[in-house]
This record gives sequence, structure tokens and C-alpha cells, in this order.
Amino acid sequence: MAASSLAGMTTNEDGARACAELGPLRARVVRHDPGLVYLDGNSLGMLPAAARERLARVVDEEWGGELVRGWSHWSELSADVGDRLGSALLGSAPGQVVVCDTISVNLFKLATAALRRAQRIDPRRTVLVTDATTFPTDRYVLEAVAAQTGAVLRPVVPDPVHGIGPDALAAALAPGDVALVVLQLVDYRSAALLDLAGVTAAVHEAGALVLWQLAHAAGAVPVDLDGAEADLAVGCTYKYLDAGPGAPGFLHVAAALTEDDAFVSPIPGWWGAADPFDMDAAYTPAAGASRFLAGSPPVLGLVAVDEGVRLLAEAGVDRLRAASVHLTERLVALADEHLAPLGLALASPRDPARRGGHVVLAHPEAYRIGAAAVARGVVGDVRPPDLLRLAPVPLAVDEAGVEEGVARLRDLVAAGEHLALPERRARVT
Ligand SMILES: *Cc1c(COP(=O)(O)O)cnc(C)c1O
Repeated sequence: MAASSLAGMTTNEDGARACAELGPLRARVVRHDPGLVYLDGNSLGMLPAAARERLARVVDEEWGGELVRGWSHWSELSADVGDRLGSALLGSAPGQVVVCDTISVNLFKLATAALRRAQRIDPRRTVLVTDATTFPTDRYVLEAVAAQTGAVLRPVVPDPVHGIGPDALAAALAPGDVALVVLQLVDYRSAALLDLAGVTAAVHEAGALVLWQLAHAAGAVPVDLDGAEADLAVGCTYKYLDAGPGAPGFLHVAAALTEDDAFVSPIPGWWGAADPFDMDAAYTPAAGASRFLAGSPPVLGLVAVDEGVRLLAEAGVDRLRAASVHLTERLVALADEHLAPLGLALASPRDPARRGGHVVLAHPEAYRIGAAAVARGVVGDVRPPDLLRLAPVPLAVDEAGVEEGVARLRDLVAAGEHLALPERRARVT
């Protein structure tokens, strides 16, 4: 990579050390183009070399060689990989996490179960609270869940930079009619990081359950679900967990909830039954979070999740977070110096303790700047209406990469390269 003209600023020592210590692990992801500055590891993570090898082996030896006999060990993958993910990155004890389906589907299953539980034990609780500006799929699914269970959606409008504060949450909970609160731990746009334990305690105090959306948190920030006594959570594995496009998501259900035999999935498929292979006509839910499995597990995707989790576990979530803070701080400082004068304004929290692993910059021409950056070998992404989203994920990029990325962005915006591009946006970024 070309030497950057932006090197030389002083930064936090622990973070710099963590970043350097991760160097050998950074060398264990596949890189076809060493000059590419990849700042989109929060949308699709890197390919671990170990995943490429293991997938090739599983396809050849297990699928090709074992054929149907492979189910003797594949059948445990959703729960086993879930346990490893839970203990390495989510602070969730065994039996509470399974890897399956997608966020959209897992959100539907868990939110429906939570609202039906409220109907049984406290029918006055009919309200589902969520963030009004959450990711569209979450909103679509929660609207459908509310309609199907007779609940009412109460969207809370967050601060666009800092997310939902304690006062807005308290106001939403005050009427005493809330059954479930669904919030993103790290906002997919601003990167605002909420207080997992504090919000969970406030929701419990108000007599409701909480479901944490961990899409931009898992693998990016330390998460202690059991420590916070969090009830439910969902997330995906293709972002920070490096499991590849379309890899299955995960869900967490606190053990106390599944002690209740009536807390079940609205999609009671055979893989969520106590014994999928006894072909019993009557459905008996499996113990623990496994009862939220539905159909056959995606074995190849699960193997990729396993390798992503192993790589991140080896890196250590605290070290990843220290390196991530170091890199986002560096990015913010460089953006202030070189991009703010060009109109790219920080739209994420300035305090790294309240920010996840990405940074957004607002600019009316964000789409064309994002496209021009890709042409310059700087891959971030764009979120409507005007946000350029940049994630310096520690296994994807180092400090020199962040410096190089900002230098290229500065040069292209200063030269007006983006203005030569069409205004129409691509369908997927
Ligand atoms: C990435 C993301 C999703 C993706 O949902 P899938 O069903 O897994 O495709 C949903 N919600 C949020 C907040 C996300 O960041």
C-alpha cells in the first residue's frame, strides 16, 4: 500500500498495541487486492483463509464422502456453533444461543413468542416498543408481529446521532402497558452504542422483556447478555463475524424463558422438536434455545460461522474492541482534519465509549462520493438519505489503511471526481 501523507498523529497506546497484536490474524484473511482499503467489514466481513479450507474439505469429504451419514454430526451444528458464539462473543451460557435462519425470521419468531407470553401472563401489556428509524426489515417484521398478535407498535424517535436516550425510553415505558422492547445495541446508521445492562434493567423495572438486535454489535463490541440479564437477542454472522454472504443468523433466549413450556416458536418445525428424528406426530419443544430452530440446518453456512467465530475468539473481543476504538478514533480525527472542510460532517457519536465499530459522515452527495470511492479502491457503503458509512474493522484494515482511505477520499472529493458520476444509485451497496 502506498505510504500515506496523513501518517504521524499520536493515538491511544493500548489501542495501537491491540492493533499491532492483531497483525498476524489480519494476515489470515483472504486478500486478492492488497491495495484495496476495505471499510465495509460491518456489511460483509472478510473471508478467513481457514473457512475457505474447511468449506472445501466439508464439501468434498463430508458432503461428497459421507452423504446422508453426515447428519450424525451435522445435526448438532446449530447448537454447538451457537454455544461457541455465545461464550466467545455474547456472554451467553450454553444452551441459549442457536445459529439459524436470518435476522428477519429470528426476530419474527422471538418477538411473536414474547408477545404471546405477555398475553398469557399479563394481558394489559399489549405494546411493542421499538426504534422508529430502525433497519427496514426490523420495522416490517415488527409491524407484522404486532398485527398478528393484536399488539400495538409504539415507535420511539431516537436522536439521529446518539440514539434512544434514557428519557425517551422512560417515556415510552411509563404507561405500564409494554410487553416487549426491541432495540439495536449499535445503530446501523449512526453507530450509537446503547447501555446494554442499563437499558435492560430499565425495561425489566417496567415489567417488560427486552430483545436486543445485535447486527452491528456482535463481534464489534463486548456483549455480556447474561451479565445484563438480557432476555432475547438476534443478530447476523455475515457482518463482523466473517461468515460470508447469506450465512445464517443467530438468536439468544435466556434459559429462564424456556423453562416455560408455553414459550415456543410460532414456526414449530421438526428441528425445534425435542427429537427431530423420532418422527413423533405430536410436537414437543426441544430444551433451551434449540426449540426456536425450524427446518434443516444450512450445514455449509454453519461451518463458515464456526470458522468466523473461531477467528474472532482467537483475536479476543476485548482486543478487537481496543483496536476498533483506536481505528475509529483515528478515522474521526483524520475526517475532522481533511474531510470536514470538504463538507463531510461526522454524524456518529464523538465519544468512542458511545460508538460501535463504524463511523458515518453526512454529505448531500454521499451516494456519488461512495461510488467514486469504490472506483478509487476505498470500499465503504452509503445509507439514505446522506450517510457515508465507514467501518475500520480490525481484521480487515490497519491504521495505514485508514490513513490511505481518508487520503483517497479527500483527494477525490477535492477534485470533484464524484460529480462526474450519474446520480442514480445502485440497487445494492
Ligand atoms: C444487517 C441487518 C439486518 C439484516 O437482516 P437479515 O434478515 O439477516 O438479512 C437486519 N437488521 C439490522 C439492524 C441489520 O443491521
